[in-house]
Amino acid sequence: QAVVHWFKSDLRLNDNRALHMAYEIAKENHVPLICLYILSPEDLTAHIASPARVDLTLRTLQLLQRDLAELDIPLYMETQEKRKDIPGRIVELLQQWGANHLCANIEYEVDELRRDAKLVRLCAEKNIDFAPSHDTCVIPPGALSTQQGKQYAVYTPWYRSWLAFLKGNPDYLELSEKPGRNPGDARQKLSELFDCQLPATPENKKLTEQEKKRYEELYPAGEHEALRRLEKFLEKKAREYNDKRSIVAGEHTSVLSPYFASGALSARTAVVTAKRSNKNHLDRFDDGYITWISEVAWRDFYKHVLAHWPFICMNKCFKPESTNIEWEYDPDQFQAWCEGKTGFPIVDAAMRQLRHCAWMHNRTRMVVSSFLSKDLLIDWRRGEQYFMENLIDGDFASNHGGWGFGSSTGVDPQPYFRIFNPLRQSERFDPDGEYIRKWVPELRDVQGKAIHEPYERGAGPIAEKNGYPRPMVDHSACRERALAKYKKALQK
Ligand code: FAD
Repeated sequence: QAVVHWFKSDLRLNDNRALHMAYEIAKENHVPLICLYILSPEDLTAHIASPARVDLTLRTLQLLQRDLAELDIPLYMETQEKRKDIPGRIVELLQQWGANHLCANIEYEVDELRRDAKLVRLCAEKNIDFAPSHDTCVIPPGALSTQQGKQYAVYTPWYRSWLAFLKGNPDYLELSEKPGRNPGDARQKLSELFDCQLPATPENKKLTEQEKKRYEELYPAGEHEALRRLEKFLEKKAREYNDKRSIVAGEHTSVLSPYFASGALSARTAVVTAKRSNKNHLDRFDDGYITWISEVAWRDFYKHVLAHWPFICMNKCFKPESTNIEWEYDPDQFQAWCEGKTGFPIVDAAMRQLRHCAWMHNRTRMVVSSFLSKDLLIDWRRGEQYFMENLIDGDFASNHGGWGFGSSTGVDPQPYFRIFNPLRQSERFDPDGEYIRKWVPELRDVQGKAIHEPYERGAGPIAEKNGYPRPMVDHSACRERALAKYKKALQK
């Protein structure tokens, strides 16, 4: 007999609900705990996991295997080409190991729910106990509803309800203990599982050596690093977060999103630790901590939206009327956007930051998504996909939510006529042009405020000499065109 925990996007030992449950069951029954991870290249392609994200996952698995081995718990990993084979293979492995308990955390995307529903059926047929756990959100989807019993579609009232729920149900903020030594003798009985190799990186997800080295330096893997970063952020930067979080130069945010995405850090741990730093308050005392907690809550919010309106997983807009928007598609303009060569310095800096770091600041994510969907009138789904192809923190729910926000096709209640002006955003959130100078070397020698708009403000010769393009569109004209198109779509 044995108990199996199946790791997915929850690659950590600390505060992992399903892993904790697996450990407790193993302890109660004095049987070994085995951990399992299955990589499906088809799945990675279908979900557009970026090479940087796959690399981080594999690096995290390596450390997880080491930490588990110290507790005499094996982590068995293998590759299954076809994702439809995963449930059958899991049951096969459990039978091979004589295991009759399976634990795993729930992922709320449609494909994942279908996969797990199949697994529930297969397990039932073979008398294997399988009880999936809610883990990824601080409050599970479905637990919060409006007075009419409906799912919230607007963040602010949802957040009030999120806070009230946690005050009334403090156990949701209790962290699960990490497992101790394996309660069963896995070393003797299952020794071959300890020698398991890391799955190979699928061909289409390989990084260049240079990229690999860069991401290893920028984002060391694993939960020890995640916890170290969390502590450091809360100690050194969180108090200023409310004032500085939108300043795009320097590092004023936590850059913990890669760790949430790989599951090296739980949202609960983040909220509980921030609350502790804030004299045990969630929503009073220090504005920095309060605001940061409310940002982590956005992650929950978008997962709740996804779980309640699963059709958004099918390439659809949240607002059905947005389907009527007549998008335009100029491949050269799209390419220029991707490469950071639009002639709008703040947009270009952001897109180049994405290329270099596989990460982008939240403010500029808003700016570039608005620019693509409103100024260029290119279907936001192209941008959503490009982000997934490149982000190390690519997360379907947050990315879809963010693109819905930027293109006014999502849950955000702001009317479509809120169109970001790239120049104003640049002047406001990169006042000294530090971010632009860092990412757009062609403009490094431009002095003062001309950096925001070099051709209009007397720095044309420098920009031209260094090959920096002129603005590819006229923002005011594009704004009018977008307003007209959106208006027409909504009147249909
Ligand atoms: P901090 O400011 O330190 O915030 C802490 C954590 O709160 C973040 O790590 C994140 O988990 C959560 N958070 C903060 N803001 C948001 C938000 N607006 N929506 C959801 N969660 C939030 N985030 C992703 O994790 N993955 C994505 O694929 C993603 N795509 C986005 C696409 C667009 C167009 C936009 C506008 C936003 C997107 N975001 C995404 C949200 C946000 O930009 C990032 O979470 C944030 O920039 C990560 O940096 P950080 O860890 O320093 O955040």
